Amino acid sequence: MSDVGSQPIDLRLKLLDKFDAIYFDLDGVLYRGLSAVDGAAEAVRNILEAGCGVAFVTNNASRTPDEVASHLMELGIPAKASEVITSSQVAVEILQQYVQPGERVFVVGGDGVEQALTAVGYVASRDSHGCVAVVQGFGPAVSWRDLAQASYLIQGGATWIATNLDSTFPTASGIAPGNGSLVDAVRNAVGRDPDGVGGKPDRSMIDRTMAAVPGDRPLLVGDRYDTDIAAGIAVGIPTMLVLSGVTQILDVWSASLRADYLCESVQGLIHTYVDSTISGEDYVCGGARATFVALDMCVRSTGGTWLERLRAADSLKWDMVTEFGLDAFTQGRITLDLGVL
Ligand SMILES: [Mg+2]
Repeated sequence: MSDVGSQPIDLRLKLLDKFDAIYFDLDGVLYRGLSAVDGAAEAVRNILEAGCGVAFVTNNASRTPDEVASHLMELGIPAKASEVITSSQVAVEILQQYVQPGERVFVVGGDGVEQALTAVGYVASRDSHGCVAVVQGFGPAVSWRDLAQASYLIQGGATWIATNLDSTFPTASGIAPGNGSLVDAVRNAVGRDPDGVGGKPDRSMIDRTMAAVPGDRPLLVGDRYDTDIAAGIAVGIPTMLVLSGVTQILDVWSASLRADYLCESVQGLIHTYVDSTISGEDYVCGGARATFVALDMCVRSTGGTWLERLRAADSLKWDMVTEFGLDAFTQGRITLDLGVL
């Protein structure tokens, strides 16, 4: 599979030339587990050389901004801690609306949660005794005992802030349960929702990012509709969905949100972007044409590359939503035929 029948040709505009700040999600966008996504380092270096601002916006609360920046540097991706925004930092901002700094807060999650709490003056505790609040984020060492202690505190009236609600995240070995799945476990025990949630899709995460790395023409790049694309839509900035993480091709078809750009990976930023245009009742993208076949209740996209076929089909889908309703796509009444991928 190759990105959009396009090579980096100097005479043509690269996608990144439309923007002056690129906000990257991390898991599934720049890396998967410990390994970089192919071409991610080259893409980020190109973006920086073009004078574009870069921020790294992660719902993964387990690590500190310093640790995230070090990991990116190890993968060859230039990054500073000041360019990293984590859901732990935003969760702690939200906590301040409920509990004054100086109070003792029970930490569920990795060092990222603990450091974000101590940075603004809370007493971060791994022991639930005397805690008036719980901040729950992901950490590979989170145990049943942590979840149980958090549940007891919340039942006793403690404030409960979750760093994020991602149900899964991609690792080198496959898709793993994310913090949202662990929050669900606590929710089942306590019978209520958290008092606040820090990460995407909440707009406070992007507001903090825009303050740290401002831009007049920002772009948010992510691999999930329910967090990344939803966050971009919430703040009204353009979004790019990459297919290098959890979202698969057919998920694009059933998505209830629309990304402005569809790319195989972040490498799409340093290439020209072949967009779809309307042609009669069809949409064309490069060499691809998407047509609605009413008899089969199917959108058939043929010709071009698989990505051109997908972009043409996605444009036709959003055109058809006004007539058929979004449910026709999210519930599979109108199907997608992209041919052989
Ligand atoms: Mg991601």
